[in-house]
Amino acid sequence: MELITELQEIVGTNRVTAEPSELYCYSSDASQVRGTPDYVVRPKNTEQVSRILKLANKYGIAVTPRGAGTGLAGGAVALSGGVVLDLSGMNRILEVDIGNLQVAVEPGVVHAKLNEALNPHGFFFPPDPGSSAMCTLGGLIANRGSGMRSVKYGTIKNYVLDLEVVMAEGTVINTGSRTLKSSAGYDLNALMVGSEGTLGIITKALLKIHPLPKSRSLLLASFEGAEMAGKAVVRVLAGGIIPSACEILDRTTIEVLNAYDPNVALPDSDTIILFEVDGTKSGVQEEAEMVKSICKPFASSISIAADEQERNEIWTARRLVGAAISRLDPKMTRVYVGEDIGVPIKEIPNMLKRLRLISQKFDTQIMTYGHIGDGNLHTGMCIDVLDEKQWELLNRAADEIHRTAIMLGGTVSAEHGIGSARAEYMRLERGPALNVMAAIKHALDPKGILNPGKLGI
Ligand SMILES: Cc1cc2nc3c(=O)[nH]c(=O)nc-3n(C[C@H](O)[C@H](O)[C@H](O)COP(=O)(O)OP(=O)(O)OC[C@H]3O[C@@H](n4cnc5c(N)ncnc54)[C@H](O)[C@@H]3O)c2cc1C
Repeated sequence: MELITELQEIVGTNRVTAEPSELYCYSSDASQVRGTPDYVVRPKNTEQVSRILKLANKYGIAVTPRGAGTGLAGGAVALSGGVVLDLSGMNRILEVDIGNLQVAVEPGVVHAKLNEALNPHGFFFPPDPGSSAMCTLGGLIANRGSGMRSVKYGTIKNYVLDLEVVMAEGTVINTGSRTLKSSAGYDLNALMVGSEGTLGIITKALLKIHPLPKSRSLLLASFEGAEMAGKAVVRVLAGGIIPSACEILDRTTIEVLNAYDPNVALPDSDTIILFEVDGTKSGVQEEAEMVKSICKPFASSISIAADEQERNEIWTARRLVGAAISRLDPKMTRVYVGEDIGVPIKEIPNMLKRLRLISQKFDTQIMTYGHIGDGNLHTGMCIDVLDEKQWELLNRAADEIHRTAIMLGGTVSAEHGIGSARAEYMRLERGPALNVMAAIKHALDPKGILNPGKLGI
């Protein structure tokens, strides 16, 4: 029997495609990586995923899981043909269990939908990616993603209680339990979180949730220079204040945001740090005052967003900055490379200085924004994609950005994942630990069918 017929028997005729036009739509994510699958299969439940993997394992066919395809490292791109497993249709919120502080979801639930469902209960799911309106929870777990609130609330790894995972040969396992803590054996949740679809397919997740804070306040501190801003952030954190968000916007980012939504009207300055604090009303007032007084010697001005509407406008615009950059100049395209480095907090001013020098060295504009409070800096580089010289400079700049982050004790990816785009840096960053990763991969997926070509293993 032909493979397509066997796949159709599992999921139904209209849930398998080999049409070139549809395959093309699945040949990329939000990065520059490209690869066309032979089939796209859209399972509806765990049993179907299990049967698909049994089949793929029998024939040695590559399977690349995919959520919404918003990944920035080529993780969901099929580099060796085979099957792309589109999990976006498994998108039910199965249970909201406030008493047990948890929710059960299928992997295709879009991140923002979960918070919409939790809001009426006075709860929220803290990891807050800029792609909230698009990305799936399965993709976020597989990439160990986070976002603007990780400085205080941690990343997705802090919220996974249990995963239902289909292993390479089709067995279904649970990696954790319904309890808020467990010390029963190896931490398989941690193994699966961030495994980028190379060890198993996540078909369900039990996630911890958090009560919504009673109050929030957003401070906008302007600085003459990113390094000065970096010093202020280090002082605020060392002063014992952990903001619920701490974002850096450089001059170009400020221009982009003001152009995207003139209502936002950010002050005209070289660098802005957005400090958000949350908690009880009195606690928030006290912390906001403390942030203000710590920043004062460094900042050229400090203001506080007037109300919730102003806060929401600023955060909405901030979430879209990555995509809005391309509006700066219609001839230029944002290319996502070197865009997700992380460094230890005390190295932030140093990294910001080095980014400025790299920008000058390669004559490439590098805008900087991101989650500076946890050391995660996003760089934005735009080029004329028809100009080979600009490609070369861009790639050399990205290479130096990655190597500099590693040299400062940091990482080439703080939240977007490795995929294939950053695979070449894994040996440099992880050293012999990469051999351990490869051994785990081989033990769990001896035929190498799960998302081959990723993570440098
Ligand atoms: C404008 C923009 C802003 C962004 N901001 C942030 C941000 O603030 N923080 C952040 O962390 N990321 C951010 N991202 C990156 C991206 O949204 C995240 O990496 C997200 O987690 C990817 O989710 P997805 O559903 O699109 O996954 P995909 O891109 O489809 O897949 C990502 C990886 O997960 C694997 N995968 C997907 N589903 C499963 C599954 N069920 N089981 C096993 N493996 C699976 C894939 O194989 C792939 O390796 C941003 C992206 C864009 C375009």
